[in-house]
Amino acid sequence: MKSTGNEGETSDMSEKKEPKKAKGKDKSVPEDKLSVWDRVSPGEREEIEEFSRGYINFLTECKTERKVAGRVLDQCVKAGFSDLSKGADKDLKGGYLLHHGKALGLFVPGKRELKEGFNLIVAHGDSPRLDLKPKSVYEDGNLGLLKTNLYGGLKKFQWLARPVALWGFTSLKDGRSVEYSFGEDPSEPVLTITDILPHMDRKIQREKRLTEAFPAERLNVLAASVPVEDKEAKNRVKLALLKLLEDKWGIKEDDLLSSEIEVVPAGPARAVGLDGSFVGGYGQDDRLSVYASVQALLDLPRPEKPLLLVVYDREEIGSYGSAGAQSNFIVRLAGAAFHALDESGCWHGVMSALAASSAVSADVEAGSDPTFKEVQDELNSAKLGFGPCVTRYTGGAGKYGASEAGSEYMAKIRNILDSEKIIWQSSLIGKQEEGGGGTVAYNLSHYGMNIVDSGAPVLSMHSPFEVSSKADVWMTRKSYRAFLEKA
Ligand code: MN
Ligand code: MN
Repeated sequence: MKSTGNEGETSDMSEKKEPKKAKGKDKSVPEDKLSVWDRVSPGEREEIEEFSRGYINFLTECKTERKVAGRVLDQCVKAGFSDLSKGADKDLKGGYLLHHGKALGLFVPGKRELKEGFNLIVAHGDSPRLDLKPKSVYEDGNLGLLKTNLYGGLKKFQWLARPVALWGFTSLKDGRSVEYSFGEDPSEPVLTITDILPHMDRKIQREKRLTEAFPAERLNVLAASVPVEDKEAKNRVKLALLKLLEDKWGIKEDDLLSSEIEVVPAGPARAVGLDGSFVGGYGQDDRLSVYASVQALLDLPRPEKPLLLVVYDREEIGSYGSAGAQSNFIVRLAGAAFHALDESGCWHGVMSALAASSAVSADVEAGSDPTFKEVQDELNSAKLGFGPCVTRYTGGAGKYGASEAGSEYMAKIRNILDSEKIIWQSSLIGKQEEGGGGTVAYNLSHYGMNIVDSGAPVLSMHSPFEVSSKADVWMTRKSYRAFLEKA
């Protein structure tokens, strides 16, 4: 791991610093060996706890991209933000643009003119999961089952034999929609996807390659076993299951064709560790960055430069679709910002402002796991507890499929973080030929802006129970604030 590059120390810890014992040597420990925990004051530790409580609650309550967008929107409306699609408002405090309930754009006017460009943060609210297929309800072996479809890159076996919940949104032909969830309330049953016992798995799993041992079509949700009373009927359990859908939420089988029902790990996010220093929970990629950046934006008094923040959907499947980062949503958002302030929002003005913007692609980074050291380039790996990562480029071997922050922009980012006393680390995603990954950074770079990836390191990423460090969540919020204020 690279040094934080901080010349100074954080203001609050300068007297309190307690370096680890350095046997008989010089009393100080090099700063890149000191984690955020080493370098914060007791008062800041309390702030970390406080902030992570709000974050854990957010993860527990927002398990779909729709919930994430809705929750952030509520918060912004409470803070006085208004709908940018409603037209001009010279006294605008803050504005939002919601796209299909799933992508959310925020705008905060600054002291400077829009044409000078925005400070922009983009994150994503979707996470890997299973979706119910449009035709999903069936009966087999006198059990009622639900067929699923993969969404995003997940390790299928991690979803078997564990409690799962359904989070649904159904649009009805009469124009109404119903939103519901099942399996989260402790008083409620959960659902599960069954696995084969080890006594009988030799041929169908153990002797196969991991990629072939768990076919997606076997990820069926166990949902019912009590049949309807009519003993003459066919598929009596399926009928009973359909009746449950209708009784609970007013949904008929056909309505599943216009539903979005997501199968997600059931249960709350939790503190993890004997010392409680981690956050464990589903969807931290990328709701960690959403939470940290939105809190940073809402805490900020009137900024110098105008700010944009976008929570995209569909990052996990390549950013395709109208709520994804490949869409023109950012252009519409910037255009709406111009329009709201009645500035000359011509195509040239909007595009020039975007090109002049400074951006952070706020996405979590693969944390270095000591149990899987061999996939990491130790020197460039991201350590939990050492603050947000700044990742110049992502991509696969040979920097394929990624944008890269230029040296001038990296210098600017370093300067902001260091002068604002942010504890941060430079990192890359794993060794060059181990795989790789990408973010929305390259989609935004399309508009000519400077952009760099930055987010907290996470362990067990894309699993049903991702792990982050409370200290990193908190320091990430501070880093986003520094960026929004100073870039
Ligand atoms: Mn992500
Ligand atoms: Mn991801």
